[in-house]
Amino acid sequence: MAGYRRTERGAEVMMRDHVEVDGVDGQRLTDRLGRPVEDLRVSLTDRCNLRCRYCMPREIFGPDHAFLEREELLSFEELTRVLRVFVDLGVSKLRLTGGEPLLRRDLPDLIAMLAALDGVDDIALTTNGILLPRLAPELKEAGLERITVSLDALDDETFRAVADTPLSVQAVLAGVDAALAAGLTPVKVNAVLQRGVNDDQAEALAGWARDTGVTLRFIEFMDVGTTNGWVRDKVVPAAELVERIKARWPIEPVAPGRTGEVAERYRYLDGVGEVGIVASVTRPFCRTCNRARLSAIGELYTCLFAASGHDLRAVVRDGADDAALRDTIAAIWSARTDRASELRAEGGLSGPRVEMSYIGG
Ligand code: SAM
Ligand code: SF4
Ligand code: SF4
Repeated sequence: MAGYRRTERGAEVMMRDHVEVDGVDGQRLTDRLGRPVEDLRVSLTDRCNLRCRYCMPREIFGPDHAFLEREELLSFEELTRVLRVFVDLGVSKLRLTGGEPLLRRDLPDLIAMLAALDGVDDIALTTNGILLPRLAPELKEAGLERITVSLDALDDETFRAVADTPLSVQAVLAGVDAALAAGLTPVKVNAVLQRGVNDDQAEALAGWARDTGVTLRFIEFMDVGTTNGWVRDKVVPAAELVERIKARWPIEPVAPGRTGEVAERYRYLDGVGEVGIVASVTRPFCRTCNRARLSAIGELYTCLFAASGHDLRAVVRDGADDAALRDTIAAIWSARTDRASELRAEGGLSGPRVEMSYIGG
């Protein structure tokens, strides 16, 4: 029977037969559209050592930008506790991100704490790769299983323009090599193409990924936040990319591996791996969205395009026990109705929203 239960902290938790929040009887928490919470993306910092123009344009994220202070961030102990509660509610996949997660001091210590959590099937991390030559072996040893590196161009001039950095592509390629050598596999590489900026890099990136033994995923340029100058004309649609790749190397679609998988996958017919496309703009997948996001200061965002988050750090620092924390998270998730990308496709996405570098990709 559907109904509401008032929790110790006064939050209302929606209870239906199949959304009973009690992990003991094995029933799952779902939101108002029937979507479970299974995948949690955790931002470890809002800082970054690059200034990709589509994510942290230097005019906004310059020397005067007020980044989060260290004491504002959830400590590793606080974070591990919050994540344990999420796992209890159904999360089995964790992705560490940012900002640039490798900038977070003592990161291997956190990885080791998370690797010890029961119920986590998968711990991954998304990085720009610059610090991997130094950190990859330690991360692997601490228990990190696999890594995703972002790389938007193979040509130095384009890379420098996109990432607004004096570094060369070689810095990222060295990071990919370090990840492969450390066994942080499978290594995935994310590329965001923007029309007229780096869309000419698609084939070069695909060819390089095939030669290197990494899985490339193109992500459609999204209107996350309000500072990256997004216009629809800059989006390179998935359908166009598929045709371009196909023209060079024959491919065929791969059936989705699991519910909530966001990349449409294609297999190269010559047997040399796969390529994926995350078509967030042209083929939204909100219907199966099982992802929650936690900002570095412990705010829970139920959508990448949300205007604000729910302050779990306050709950933790107010001394709530695990049951109360669990009820709070369950109340937030069970009230979730987000479907921003579908709304965009229907022509109706507007209003303020959080920056990608703040809540992580
Ligand atoms: N700094 C790390 C990195 O670049 O991999 C992790 C954080 S970054 C925000 C995570 C992912 O989001 C990257 O792959 C990046 O390319 C992607 N991203 C950032 N802004 C984006 C946008 N406007 N549209 C699509 N993807 C974006
Ligand atoms: Fe930094 Fe990653 Fe954003 Fe680029 S995409 S500015 S590397 S957080
Ligand atoms: Fe999920 Fe929001 Fe993205 Fe839709 S727009 S897939 S609800 S994060």
